[in-house]
This record gives sequence, C-alpha cells and structure tokens, in this order.
Amino acid sequence: MKVDRERCIGCRQCFAQCPVRAISLREGKADIHQDRCVECHICAYSGVCPKNALVIEELSYPRSLRSAFSDVKKPHKDTGVLGRGTEEMKTNDVTARLKLGRLGISVELGRPGVSTSFRDVQTIAMKLAPLSVHFEPENPVTSLMTDIRTGALREEVLEERALSALVEIDIPEDRLMDVIHALQEAEPEVDTVFSLCIASPLDPETGDIPFAETLRKNHIPFRPNGKTNVGLGRPFKEVERA
Ligand code: SF4
Ligand code: SF4
Repeated sequence: MKVDRERCIGCRQCFAQCPVRAISLREGKADIHQDRCVECHICAYSGVCPKNALVIEELSYPRSLRSAFSDVKKPHKDTGVLGRGTEEMKTNDVTARLKLGRLGISVELGRPGVSTSFRDVQTIAMKLAPLSVHFEPENPVTSLMTDIRTGALREEVLEERALSALVEIDIPEDRLMDVIHALQEAEPEVDTVFSLCIASPLDPETGDIPFAETLRKNHIPFRPNGKTNVGLGRPFKEVERA
C-alpha cells in the first residue's frame, strides 16, 4: 500500500481504518510503515480518503503473500477460496472430508490489531509436524512448506506478515492431547496470539461431540459451535468412519 504524497492532505481519516496501526503522519502527510502493513487494503476499500491518495500497488512475491492472506476480496490462487482457510473445514457436512475417528484442527495465528509473521506460523507448523499430522494440502500455509515432514516454510516468506493465517491438519482422535501439548509448548515461542479450532462430525448414534470428554478430563475449556446443513448443500457422501 502506498500513499500518493502529492494528493494527501494529512487529514488522518485513514488512520483509524488500519487494523495494524501502520499509518502515521510524516511531514504533514500519511506515511505507511511498510513492515507493519499487511496489504489488507482496508484503508483504500473504506473510501474515507477525500483525495483518493491511497494507492493499491501490484505486489511482487514474496510481499504479495501479505495481500493473499489479508485482503478479504482476494481469493487465494491455490484454493480459489476467499480468505485464508480451506472451505472443507466449514462445509464438512457436504464434503465429508473429516471422517468419524479423525479430527480437523486449525490453528489461527494473528488477529486484527496484532497480525502474525510467517516465522511464527512456521514455529507452530514445526511443533506439529513431528506428531505425524496430516497437513491439509489445499491450505495456503501448506502450499508454502518446503517439507511437510518438518513443517518448514520457504525461507523468503518468513519475514512477511499477514493479518492472520491458518495452519490446518487432521489427526486421529486419540492424538488430540499430543497436539494441545505441542501448542502449549509453542506458546512462549511465538510473538502473536493464536486460537485452536477442532472440527469433527457428531457421533451419529449419540449426537455427542466425540472429543468433548477428552477436553473436559484435561480441564481444557472449550466453546461448542455447530454448523447445521439446512439443505442448501447436499452431501456428496455420508460421513464414514476412518
Ligand atoms: S493496506 Fe491494510 S495494513 Fe496496510 S496501511 Fe492499509 S489498512 Fe493498514
Ligand atoms: S485519508 Fe487520504 S488525505 Fe487523509 S491522511 Fe489518509 S491518505 Fe492522506
């Protein structure tokens, strides 16, 4: 993101639009801190600039990753999905990708106001990789890995930043606590916030969440959140047991 300094009148209208506080005043004009800017383009999309001075640039790789992960209007070229995750995580009742006995896990790093570096994304991926997890191949972060056995990302992307990024894996149900312990170990090593989402079909016989008891037993607080298929998406196939 650039400011056309000829046009800018330093009115500061755009400052509050930036989710990572990357815009400040320099010599009476708006100035964008290039390392902090995640190329989300919210400042420009907001339309607040009275002089049309906010310029969306054509970015070259690896900086282009910032907008690929942060600009909600931009579909990721690897997934074709708006946003940063795979569609299957949200539409499992249609795709039946997650089978009974397996859990879909997404670790979301960064939030508006905080953002994340890809070095922190790599730290999480490398903590999970030794557990022989299956990295979701359609996920944009997986597409940046040089080796899915280690979770290492391409060297040139590590200093890039995004508003948030998702590491997605699926695991056998009985490995859940191994994953949680690995994430607890990673927590002091990352310089951002992250949250954990666990997805699974409900047990077809009891209607229970298959992993709820494991979390309760280990005193891990959680918030159940259901997705209900109201019939707009017809299942490709019934959920199977892994
Ligand atoms: S593109 Fe996004 S991060 Fe960059 S200055 Fe604009 S609002 Fe802030
Ligand atoms: S809103 Fe436009 S004119 Fe005002 S400070 Fe931002 S870039 Fe400059």
